[in-house]
Amino acid sequence: MGTTKTEVLKAERDAVIAKSVRTAMDLFVAEATGHTIRDVEGREYVDFTGGIGVHTTGHRPESVVRAVKKQLDRYLHLCVMVFNYEPYVELAKRLLAIAPMKDAKSAFFNSGSEAVENGVKTARAYTKRPGVISFRNSFHGRTFMCLSLTGKYRPYKVGFEPFMPHVYQASFPYHYRCADRHDASECAQRSLDTVEDIFHSQAAADKVAAIITEPVQGEGGFIVPPKEFFPGLRKICDAHGIVLIDDEVQAGIGRTGKMFAIEHFRTTPDLITTAKALGAGLPISGLTGKAEIMDAPVPGSIGGTYGGNPLACVAAIENLKLIEKALTNAPKVARLLERRLDEIAEEHALVGEHRGLGPMRAIELVKDRATKVPAADEAKAVQREARERGALFLTAGTFDNVIRLLPPLTTPADVLEKGLDVLDAAMAAVERTGR
Ligand code: PMP
Repeated sequence: MGTTKTEVLKAERDAVIAKSVRTAMDLFVAEATGHTIRDVEGREYVDFTGGIGVHTTGHRPESVVRAVKKQLDRYLHLCVMVFNYEPYVELAKRLLAIAPMKDAKSAFFNSGSEAVENGVKTARAYTKRPGVISFRNSFHGRTFMCLSLTGKYRPYKVGFEPFMPHVYQASFPYHYRCADRHDASECAQRSLDTVEDIFHSQAAADKVAAIITEPVQGEGGFIVPPKEFFPGLRKICDAHGIVLIDDEVQAGIGRTGKMFAIEHFRTTPDLITTAKALGAGLPISGLTGKAEIMDAPVPGSIGGTYGGNPLACVAAIENLKLIEKALTNAPKVARLLERRLDEIAEEHALVGEHRGLGPMRAIELVKDRATKVPAADEAKAVQREARERGALFLTAGTFDNVIRLLPPLTTPADVLEKGLDVLDAAMAAVERTGR
């Protein structure tokens, strides 16, 4: 039995929670506000984990909390398959107003995975085809279709085989790890060639319902595709009547400094999935897409008991207003993060690459800059050292060697600087001790 409150709680947790539910930090949170997390020991941390991309407007934004409290006094749950209620419709109207496609319709669910599942179902119903193409290094969720699409094996897929048939994986343009060291546009073309190759080797193009990709790979390590990639994908989809699904669960709703990350790539997808930052902490996800495609599944075939729960809808409606405001601050946040991470990359040989899109930024750690051998243990050690110094960071990447930054876009500059000072010091400590 431990002596601190955290140790006692941790022992209790381990006794009753399934081992498969792993927690990156073994601290217990007492309170979270804005950009700060306070644990049960009374220690405060600057939060760069943001609930894995949920808290783009900070923990518990006031207007969201107010709207949820007000909704608590009206109705909690009705079920959209039983009753109509206004917040569900209002949220769809707001998404229509900001979506890249003109004639968008939406449906709401609870999690990112469900949005992806329903995106695939909708594309299949529309095209009457079975095939789906996803990309290596991707992450699309933990349900069976999502896992089948996901391009990282450990830990997500271990022991869960077999996966869904008719899923094919192309290669994502992960330029930093391009074996042939060609330029970025060539890297994009090679990736697009792997899509075309699937049509020849695994599934005819007219058997493929959808191509799904993240605009910036999130769990994969914040990998930004070269600018030629999305227009190329769009062209392939148009040529073969394939639905392009843009999985914005992590990169969307402001994270990259635009409402949808795809806006950076001047491409209009057919369907977009959103979740995480949409609800500011209330569980909600959306599938938004061209009306003709969204209307293809037969009535009653899409839904779920809690999907688009009223509390989550009102939270999302208020949060979208806050996101609009936060976007005006995003370029400043992006510049600050970029400058500091450039400095950190220059100073510490552990950093192989600093990359990102707008404020969605990460550093990839390597044991050696020439060989690029991933430094996963070092990434964990940096995370640990940073935590001891008062800032919380998440790792990512197929090789678990990326440190990603997901601070609220509302975090003041001096707090961001403080968090980055901690990251810098943690890197120095790990390089010094070799841990
Ligand atoms: N798609 C992407 C791009 C994600 O990053 C995630 C979650 N990390 C998901 C889907 C799955 O979302 P959820 O965990 O809410 O099911």
